[in-house]
Amino acid sequence: MLARFVKRLGANVPVHGEAHAVSRTRAYPEWHLASSLAEATWRAFQGAAVVAGGVDLGERLRLVRRAPRSIVCIRGLAELRRLDVRTDGVCIGTLVTLQELAQSPLVLERFPALARAAGLAATPAVREVATVGGNLMQYPRCWQLRTEGRPCRRSGAGRCHSDGSWRADGALFDRRACASAHPSSLAPVLIALGARAEAHSVSGLVRVPLDRLYPPRRSSAGRPVCTTPADILTCIHLRWPAPGAVTFFDARRTGDTVTAAVAGSVQVRDQVVEAARIVLGGVAPSPWRARAAEARLVGARLCPAALRDAVHAELAIAPAPAGSAAKARDLQSAALTALRVGEGVS
Ligand SMILES: Cc1cc2nc3c(=O)[nH]c(=O)nc-3n(C[C@H](O)[C@H](O)[C@H](O)COP(=O)(O)OP(=O)(O)OC[C@H]3O[C@@H](n4cnc5c(N)ncnc54)[C@H](O)[C@@H]3O)c2cc1C
Ligand code: SF4
Repeated sequence: MLARFVKRLGANVPVHGEAHAVSRTRAYPEWHLASSLAEATWRAFQGAAVVAGGVDLGERLRLVRRAPRSIVCIRGLAELRRLDVRTDGVCIGTLVTLQELAQSPLVLERFPALARAAGLAATPAVREVATVGGNLMQYPRCWQLRTEGRPCRRSGAGRCHSDGSWRADGALFDRRACASAHPSSLAPVLIALGARAEAHSVSGLVRVPLDRLYPPRRSSAGRPVCTTPADILTCIHLRWPAPGAVTFFDARRTGDTVTAAVAGSVQVRDQVVEAARIVLGGVAPSPWRARAAEARLVGARLCPAALRDAVHAELAIAPAPAGSAAKARDLQSAALTALRVGEGVS
């Protein structure tokens, strides 16, 4: 199985326990198939890169951007592949695939916005192998970052070296540190739902609010991670929605990829919004908590036009980069349709 996986990655690498051709011309990473979480965390602690579905890491390996010396594959860890129902909510194992998430009867019933986000991401073939953990930890889709030898702030250069031209996956907010938007479709909706991440490392278990996985503004250097690069995300914990909560997600795509997303969870009484948590995807180097939109929505009657106006208020907080008008339109159009596909609002 591992040899097939390696072939899909396009890498010709030595695999422990399997005969495999080794190139003499390039230093390929050493592979380890973890048989336990303890082994995986130990290898990650020693510097191995973690691979789950391999969609994102595989692409980066093909471009050989800072190829790691070794890789630990966690796909065999059955305990990370489960949806565990608990009294206070559900624990989503980080090896659950986007397809499994989109089709899970439990997620469809209790967290329809999350099921929609998983079902809209990428393509059916990608969703089949891409995992929750890999989706949250994927790198921005900036070729400057992903191509060998090019300087980039996220990989250690002092500043962003993108040429500044507008791209569909570019950021609208907080562009000084990094002009590329975070690409995860799951992160905005999970943050809007108040998810917590559980991660294991050699020093034990940490639980953090999911937004802590992403670096604070203006310090986006390095891999997004909550504590140390050796952490392995094991599960994402979601509480059952409170009575009166309305959750929603909708997105617009450019080609195969979601490039603008609106996610939220609002508390409603007598159709009036009492509290709101709105997170936009595809607009900033990290999932963007839309505080201006939240302030605009609280006290309003919940309806698609109110949500569109709230997103419009968020867009007004920063000057739009030249060429980004289509993304602003996409966000407002996603806001108009998000409630119709969410819970409880017709
Ligand atoms: C054509 C195409 C379209 C796409 N469109 C979208 C889209 O619309 N929306 C979207 O969100 N994404 C999109 N993607 C990206 C895709 O969803 C991600 O590449 C995928 O989810 C990554 O998951 P993976 O399991 O393959 O991660 P991997 O490639 O295995 O890993 C990715 C990164 O996460 C780290 N990692 C993985 N698991 C863990 C863990 N448990 N703990 C700690 N670190 C971990 C790895 O070390 C690596 O750095 C698209 C990709 C393609 C190819
Ligand atoms: S800092 Fe961001 S936009 Fe700039 S080169 Fe790196 S990934 Fe690209």
